[in-house]
Amino acid sequence: MMKYFLPRICIIIIYLGFSLQAQAQWYQYQWQVMGTSAKLELWADSKQRALFAKSIVQQEFDRIEQLMSPYIESSELSEINRLAARQAVIVSGELYAILEKSLYFSTLTEGAFDISFASVGHLYQYPKAIAPTDAVIDEQRKKIDYRYIQLDPEVRSVTFKERGVLIDLGGIAKGYAVDRAIQQLTTLGVKAALVAAGGDTRILGRRGEYPWMIAIQDPRDKQKAIIRLPLADVAVSTSGDYERYFLRDGERIHHIINPGTGRSTSSVRSVTIIADEAITSDALSTSVFVLGVKRGLALVNRLSAIDAIIIDDKGLLHYSDGLLMPALD
Ligand code: AMP
Ligand code: MG
Repeated sequence: MMKYFLPRICIIIIYLGFSLQAQAQWYQYQWQVMGTSAKLELWADSKQRALFAKSIVQQEFDRIEQLMSPYIESSELSEINRLAARQAVIVSGELYAILEKSLYFSTLTEGAFDISFASVGHLYQYPKAIAPTDAVIDEQRKKIDYRYIQLDPEVRSVTFKERGVLIDLGGIAKGYAVDRAIQQLTTLGVKAALVAAGGDTRILGRRGEYPWMIAIQDPRDKQKAIIRLPLADVAVSTSGDYERYFLRDGERIHHIINPGTGRSTSSVRSVTIIADEAITSDALSTSVFVLGVKRGLALVNRLSAIDAIIIDDKGLLHYSDGLLMPALD
């Protein structure tokens, strides 16, 4: 009897041991949210834990989209756009903090980052190749100015000082959502993960023994990586003229708007920013795109713990000082 059972028990123990161990692994998930594709990669002890972490991240992304999307009528952002030119609109502490942060980046970038770009921006429909006429752009761009957005911290309200002003958080909300997701994962005890929403990525820890390899894509060839950066515990955002665009008479009309002109800028093809938090890398990648190589690098070099890689309109690479190797004697 014993002779018969012992080998069987051994096999069961070995099998259980093997299957439990085999479940501690990297898990990868991808889904659509906020008009883009989201990605989660994490190391977890079991599939159950990985799925739980994924559901928490998904819920957080959905919640932020419901709060900040200009395409959802019931969002707080839509309410601001409907009412703030007529009355002070009281908003949640969370949205108020994002508005404050947006205005901080406007001041820092001398207006290159400006959420009121939407006063003109909402007239573009990239999938349908629709752009407003020059006359409309020139009229509407007078409504782009972050100084029209007035915040009152006492009552936590927002007011537009001008009629026709519209705001959109497309240049900062995905970065914020990625930061929130990383916070949630940390609370769950996850030690190594990557969260991305479109071009905004943040990584937690390392990828096992190695750093994470983050690719910067060739702006003119989706399949090709121009560089791979070995990174750990940082945020990386890339803004590119290839994300949402159409071509008209050879001109590339895309989604990053120069607040000064109401039109997309063409001096660079992509900007990648490395920072501690994705809210910062997101806002600055959009800003540096507008500022161009010279002014953009000057800004980044002035800031601590921020780096940039810019691909200009000829495909040439430019790096911030923090990424340059010291010259050999
Ligand atoms: P990103 O995807 O981070 O490069 O940001 C591009 C998005 O930011 C666009 O799709 C717009 O929603 C928004 N955006 C465009 N131009 C500006 C600007 N000058 N300042 C702030 N947000 C902008
Ligand atoms: Mg950005």
